[in-house]
Amino acid sequence: MPWTKEERAEYARQYNLDNKEKIKEQSRQRYLENREKIVEYNRQYRLNNKEKIAQQKKEYEQTPQGKKTNMISSWKRRGLLWETKEEIDEIYERYLNSKRCELCDVEYTETIIKNMDHSHTTGKFRNVLCHRCNSNTDRQDNKSGVPNVFWDNIRKKWIYCKKINKKPHRKKFPYFIQAVIYKKEYEASLL
Ligand SMILES: [Zn+2]
Repeated sequence: MPWTKEERAEYARQYNLDNKEKIKEQSRQRYLENREKIVEYNRQYRLNNKEKIAQQKKEYEQTPQGKKTNMISSWKRRGLLWETKEEIDEIYERYLNSKRCELCDVEYTETIIKNMDHSHTTGKFRNVLCHRCNSNTDRQDNKSGVPNVFWDNIRKKWIYCKKINKKPHRKKFPYFIQAVIYKKEYEASLL
């Protein structure tokens, strides 16, 4: 080849830029064709590198990005819901920068810690609050007669079913009528 190493690198870089979609599709195809092999390889790798992976995970959890990921997934487990990445980024920023309870203005300390106040009916974030204020809003939500934990669980199941495009099974929704009411409300709120 008459080209220098630099020219070849530049050509490759330009080619990759011009053919982004094509390359993406090719690698997707390669993945699909070798899916079983790749899955097995990854499984073996995880088995053989348990300690290394655990160590990497531990290190990652100490980075700002790792802390953020951890925190957000714990919110998600407790039923917080958001629509876009921008929205949750903004909520996280607000949480990080919050120095005082947004309701009673008490300052956060080692024992007075921040809580994420979210609507148990819709899953939407409301405020960053101290524990006492958060308990109060939880009590308010509970007044609807349906326990908060019920809403959180049913919403998670409902969203999961929607995600995998499956009709929610009656057995998974013990209070089925309430689930139907919830579904209607939830869908109306998305309009
Ligand atoms: Zn408070």
